[in-house]
Amino acid sequence: MALPAMSLASILLSSCSKSEIIAPKKKLRVGIIGAGISGLQTAKILFEQNQFDVEILEASDKIGGRINLDEQVFGSYNIEMGASAAYGNQNQWYDMLRSAQTLETNSKSPTSYYINGNSFNLTELNQDSDYLKMINSTKDVCDYNGSAEVSVAQYIESKNIPERVKFIFQNRSEEKIGTSIERASIALNSGEGLSKIDSNMYQISGTNSDKILYREYSKILPYVLNNTAISAIDYSGSKVKVRDQNQVLREYDYVVVTVPISILKLQSDDVNSIKFLPTLPESKIAAMNKIGMDGAIKIALKTNRKFWHEDSKAIYCKGQIGKYEIVSEDPANNSYILTATVMGAYAENVLNSMRESEILNLIQNEWATYIGTTASDSLVSCHVKNWSKEPFIKGAFSYHKLGGESETRKELAKSVNSKIFFAGEACNTNKNSGTVHGALETAYNVGKEIISMSV
Ligand SMILES: Cc1cc2nc3c(=O)[nH]c(=O)nc-3n(C[C@H](O)[C@H](O)[C@H](O)COP(=O)(O)OP(=O)(O)OC[C@H]3O[C@@H](n4cnc5c(N)ncnc54)[C@H](O)[C@@H]3O)c2cc1C
Repeated sequence: MALPAMSLASILLSSCSKSEIIAPKKKLRVGIIGAGISGLQTAKILFEQNQFDVEILEASDKIGGRINLDEQVFGSYNIEMGASAAYGNQNQWYDMLRSAQTLETNSKSPTSYYINGNSFNLTELNQDSDYLKMINSTKDVCDYNGSAEVSVAQYIESKNIPERVKFIFQNRSEEKIGTSIERASIALNSGEGLSKIDSNMYQISGTNSDKILYREYSKILPYVLNNTAISAIDYSGSKVKVRDQNQVLREYDYVVVTVPISILKLQSDDVNSIKFLPTLPESKIAAMNKIGMDGAIKIALKTNRKFWHEDSKAIYCKGQIGKYEIVSEDPANNSYILTATVMGAYAENVLNSMRESEILNLIQNEWATYIGTTASDSLVSCHVKNWSKEPFIKGAFSYHKLGGESETRKELAKSVNSKIFFAGEACNTNKNSGTVHGALETAYNVGKEIISMSV
C-alpha cells in the first residue's frame, strides 16, 4: 500500500543519522521554447528522468510545428500540410508511423510522368535514354564528394541533362534540399538533403499526425503553454529569465531553444524576433548566416477524375510546380486528393503573392499544357498552406547556402554558458537536417547533455 509522503519522509529520517541525511534534490526547471517535435521530445526525455520540471512555451495555438494536420479541407478531408512521411525505416519517426500503419513509396514506386503532352510510366521511361541520363546525373549529385564552391544547379549544368526531363531532377532535388537548386551548395548538401532522394519514404496513412503526436506525447501535453511567444531570453544571471510577448517573465535553470532557424535569424526590429542577453556568440551568429531556410508552399488539390496511371503514387509534370503526390482516391464519389510542395524562389517570388483561386488557375493552365484538358478540366479545388507566412515558422527547412562550412551545424548545436541549449532540425549534426527524425535526434543530444550536467 502506498504510504503518505510525510510518513515516508519521517521513516527515512528516523533510519539515518543527521550526517547521512540526503535532502531530496530540488527539481531543476527547464523551459523549452517551441512545441514542434524536437521540443516535445526534449520535454519527454527530461520529464521521464523525474528530476526536472519542464515547461514548453509554444507561440502558436497548436503543437507539432512543421508537422501539421489541416482538418476539414474541401469540407471533409484531413490533409497533412507539413511533414507527411518518414525517410527510411531506421529511425524513431518511422517507428511512430509504423505503429499507426504506414504506406511505403520510393523513387521506384509507380509514378505517372507527363513530358511535353506525352504520358509515360516508369517501365517506359526506363527505356528512355534522356531519363536514364537524368537518373545517372542524379546519382552523381547524391554521391558528390568534391569541395567546389558551386551550387547544385551549376554542378548539374555540366552534366547536360536533356531539357525535356530536367524538371524531374529539379523537382526531386528541391523538395529534398528545401530550396531552389541555384541557392544550395552541392558540396554541403550532397551528403545531407540530397541523399534523401533515394530513401524509401513511408507516408502517414490510416491515421493522422495529430493522433500520432497526442499519443506519443500525452504525458507532457499538460506542460505545454500555447499562445506563448517568447521575445527575450536573458542568461546573464544564475537563472535564465524568459519573457514572452505579453511581458510575462519566467525563470528556469536551463532553457532549450527549438525554434526554426528562420526565427533565430530575424532582425531585432521584427516583432517575432527573440532577443538574447547577452547576445549569442559571434561564432554562432556566423554559423546561422551560413544556413538558409527559404519559402515553402504546400498545395492540396481535388480532382473529380483520375487521369493518371493505375497504382501511381505520384505524378511528375513539366511546369513550375512539377510533382504531385496522390494522397487519396475515392472513385465512388469522384473525388481524388493530391498535394504538391514548392520550395525556394518560385514559392517566394510567384506563389507567395497569389490567392488560392489564382494558384488553381495556374495549375489548370500547366496541366492543360503539359498533360491535357482531361486533367485540367478535372481540377475542382485548391487549398494552400503558405509556410513562409506562418509567423513562427517562416519557411521550409534548413539547408547549406553557398559559402557554408561542414562544421556549421555543430556550431549551431553548441550550448551557450551551459544554460542555453539548441535543438531542432537545423542543429542536426548527423546529416539528417530538414527531417522529422533529424529533429528528434537533436532532442536526444540535448536531453543527454542536460542530464549529464545535472547528475
Ligand atoms: C511542407 C513541408 C513538408 C515536409 N515534409 C517532411 C516529410 O515528409 N518528412 C520529414 O521527415 N520532414 C519533412 N519536413 C521537415 C520537418 O517537418 C521538420 O524538419 C521538422 O518537423 C522540424 O521540427 P522542429 O522541432 O525542428 O521545428 P518546428 O516543427 O518548426 O517547431 C518549432 C516550434 O517553435 C515554435 N516557435 C517559433 N518561434 C517561437 C517563439 N518565439 N516562442 C515560442 N515558440 C516559438 C513554432 O511555432 C514551432 O511550433 C517538411 C517540412 C515542410 C515545411
